[in-house]
Amino acid sequence: MSKKVSTGVKRRDFLAGAATLAAATPLAVSSASSSRKSDITARNTKHDYDVIVVGGGFAGATAARELGLQGYKILILEARSRLGGRCYTSKFAGQDIEYGGAWVHWLQPHVWAEMQRYGLGVVEDPFTGLEMTKIMKNDGTVKNIDPDKFLTNIRDAFEKFNHDVWEMFPRPYQPLHNPKVKELDKLSVRDRIKTLDITEDQRVQLNSFMTLYGGDTTDKFGLAGMLKIYACGAWNYDAFADAETHYRIETGTMGLITKMIEDSGAKLRLATPIYRIEQETDDIKVVTEDDEIISAAAVVITVPLNTYKNLEFAPALTKEKQAFVNEGQLSKGAKIYIHLKQNIGRVFAFCDENHPFNWVQTHDYGDELGTILSITVARSSIMDLNDDDAVENAIQSLFPGVEVLGSAAWDWNSDPYAMGAWPAYRVGQLSRIPDMQTPQGRLFFGGAFTANGWHEFIDGAVESGLRTGKEVKEFLG
Ligand SMILES: Cc1cc2nc3c(=O)[nH]c(=O)nc-3n(C[C@H](O)[C@H](O)[C@H](O)COP(=O)(O)OP(=O)(O)OC[C@H]3O[C@@H](n4cnc5c(N)ncnc54)[C@H](O)[C@@H]3O)c2cc1C
Repeated sequence: MSKKVSTGVKRRDFLAGAATLAAATPLAVSSASSSRKSDITARNTKHDYDVIVVGGGFAGATAARELGLQGYKILILEARSRLGGRCYTSKFAGQDIEYGGAWVHWLQPHVWAEMQRYGLGVVEDPFTGLEMTKIMKNDGTVKNIDPDKFLTNIRDAFEKFNHDVWEMFPRPYQPLHNPKVKELDKLSVRDRIKTLDITEDQRVQLNSFMTLYGGDTTDKFGLAGMLKIYACGAWNYDAFADAETHYRIETGTMGLITKMIEDSGAKLRLATPIYRIEQETDDIKVVTEDDEIISAAAVVITVPLNTYKNLEFAPALTKEKQAFVNEGQLSKGAKIYIHLKQNIGRVFAFCDENHPFNWVQTHDYGDELGTILSITVARSSIMDLNDDDAVENAIQSLFPGVEVLGSAAWDWNSDPYAMGAWPAYRVGQLSRIPDMQTPQGRLFFGGAFTANGWHEFIDGAVESGLRTGKEVKEFLG
């Protein structure tokens, strides 16, 4: 079995490795300074740059592009030797795959607008025409369910789960518009599931789905954040499901982010992690792991919430922000692709929270190819994705008799520059998001987790980049 799994190496070791890789590997975008902007000097010459953007994921790329187009001198500092952050286009068994964020939709207006802007189309992974659907309960029992029944089950359960979503989130992009949301935010997803009049099969399907969205058990997953995402999906199950898992960007996520960075005219430094941000009245400085100090008039920080605990801030973050950082983001997920020898067709399975493979779907299949399964793991800690036997046993427990030809995984939880997967809110976090959105002096806060709308998604990252770009522009004048 060929494998590729993030190793969870210690931070310093990883940094050394990343830097070596950066030096040795030709990068798609080694420096994004375009000739259009190469002669730009900082508007205020006492700083090295007008703006430093920390992080080269979608939030950072959007902020850099927005500010770069305004003529500011921008530096992007990215810890890894590649762009994209929690989006990572790669190859497995000859196929284009995404280890992280993948699916996009026109109901996700910010990322969709970016695709239109750069003329990028889509490839489809339709959630229809399923030939085999299954659920696995917490006790390991597997049940085949007729595909039509499977889809009716989840639609009905979802609609019951979201029964008050119109009332709670009449304006999804103003999530706190209804004051009742603060009360709702005291509840977990599990609190809501317990109240529903649904069958046992539906409960398994719904809890598996929600475990996936939370990236952890549903007792920790905030109900309000989940309902808000559903509201962004037009308060409608079919529209929401289509937005979730139907369309990928034809060039991969890397294709889009590369275009955005090129457009920014920013200087890009890969393999340059920072560990400190310090500001005074008229200046803000970023300190890299190599103790290089770089100054700017403003900094946009877009690193994942769980990685904040590795950074120093002087002055310290406000106590509200620090409380949020201490709680951290909930989801602890991973992605694994498994190549099966057999062609098992277009399948879908939900596994409940005790099982690692919560969301299993066919990526591609054929008599010669066999089947490639794309599996999203909510709780990566419950299985070692490096353990070939464990992977094989887990997939055989769902599809008895299959033979595994290979697998490839990325565990975002043990990745030092993610320390978690998609940005899911814990109970009580949605109503405190303004605490994280508010700038602090010359420091501006982006990242999908700060978005008003699709905060678990690429769209949220782009939304936050647009917001921080606007905030910095207003601040700098
Ligand atoms: C398995 C998985 C599946 C997903 N599926 C989907 C999906 O289908 N559709 C969808 O829309 N979304 C999906 N998401 C969510 C989506 O990928 C994220 O919400 C989005 O990419 C976050 O973008 P960001 O810019 O906020 O953060 P990131 O992409 O994490 O970018 C932050 C950047 O900061 C860098 N950084 C961290 N620390 C430092 C430091 N000290 N110094 C310098 N740089 C640093 C990181 O390396 C990273 O590049 C998925 C995520 C995962 C993990």
